[in-house]
Amino acid sequence: MDISTRRRLLEGMRRAHQADAAHTATARARTRAAMAAADARARLAHAEASGLSADKLEAARAAADGPARREQEARGKLCRTFTAARAANSTLGALYAPYARGRGTGGRDRSVIAAGILSELAETPRELVLAADAIVVSTSGGKDSLVCGDRVVTLAAEAGCLDKVVLVHADLGEESEWPGVRELAQRQAERWGVRFLVVKAEGGLLGLVEKRGMWPDAARRLCTASLKRDKIGPLFKQITDALGLDGQTLILSALDMRASNGRRMVLTWHPVLELTEAAVWRRIADAALEYHPVYDALIPRLSCVFCVLAGRDVLVRAVRLCWALGLDLPTRYVALEEHIGHRFREKLSIADIVAEATLAEAEEGPLIWVRGDALRRHAGEEAAAGYLRNLAAAA
Ligand code: SF4
Repeated sequence: MDISTRRRLLEGMRRAHQADAAHTATARARTRAAMAAADARARLAHAEASGLSADKLEAARAAADGPARREQEARGKLCRTFTAARAANSTLGALYAPYARGRGTGGRDRSVIAAGILSELAETPRELVLAADAIVVSTSGGKDSLVCGDRVVTLAAEAGCLDKVVLVHADLGEESEWPGVRELAQRQAERWGVRFLVVKAEGGLLGLVEKRGMWPDAARRLCTASLKRDKIGPLFKQITDALGLDGQTLILSALDMRASNGRRMVLTWHPVLELTEAAVWRRIADAALEYHPVYDALIPRLSCVFCVLAGRDVLVRAVRLCWALGLDLPTRYVALEEHIGHRFREKLSIADIVAEATLAEAEEGPLIWVRGDALRRHAGEEAAAGYLRNLAAAA
């Protein structure tokens, strides 16, 4: 299957998915309208049986008219969305028939097929890069983003289309993140010679928690959606508008069907998904990619300082690192926890973490680390020494 066939199939799936979703929403609206109309009819019947005056009866009939009309409209809309969903699904079925091998294209099958097509596309990254109209690399500034950006930029440069690449960073602010993250992401873009865009999530995690009066958790990870994905999403429209293509714009990124529409298709692509942590560090060493210093202080991810998904030991270390860097975030987070009356985790409060960090600090003294420690741990002394030399030479 060539890339344009896969692209047509994905677009067919997106349309069928969208048409099904519209039909389901319309069916719900029709049920609500039918219930409201039935209520109105019952009230009218009651009024008619009560022997009301002609004026009052007229008013009761007028009041029942609105729900009856809305039910009629909802029925018409349901017919139209049913026809549209059937057409979109039969178009998809016809497109997919030559490759079906006994599989259907409805519901779960559709997600499985889409995932299969996306992973086949990922196996031909050069074709993918050449076919794309824009390549959006969303970077947290962390080690995986660093290697992902390096891979994409290398591929795009080899294919002669580096100008398609845009590096996008969601800036959560220093109330949430370690200092220097945005600046590091910008230096990465400058080094690669690609465009750099920043979207700002005002207030960051601290602001979000204060506003909602509760912490997100693994089951309701609203923070990623509202601080990152929802902020980056509008950029796809801007990119599509700026390109101004006649047909559908193909954007490579790491988002889902929700970001796609008739004017643009946003394909999911994870170029470093199969790499082990050791391989990521090896690539950082080999390409002398500048990583954030918090990794040297044994913080394994460049995430929010107090990430709701982080392990207890990482959180304790984060508190100690804040103290070593002179950051007042632990105090602010403890105050926020008290203020909203909701614990950071059901069985772990930020106050507990700070108490544990205080004990560790008393036993071990302040944290000490030196530049290159993360590489020493993951790739060895020699790799770290070479990395530091290359980094200094590139500065
Ligand atoms: S890093 Fe953690 S706390 Fe921050 S947005 Fe992501 S999941 Fe939420």
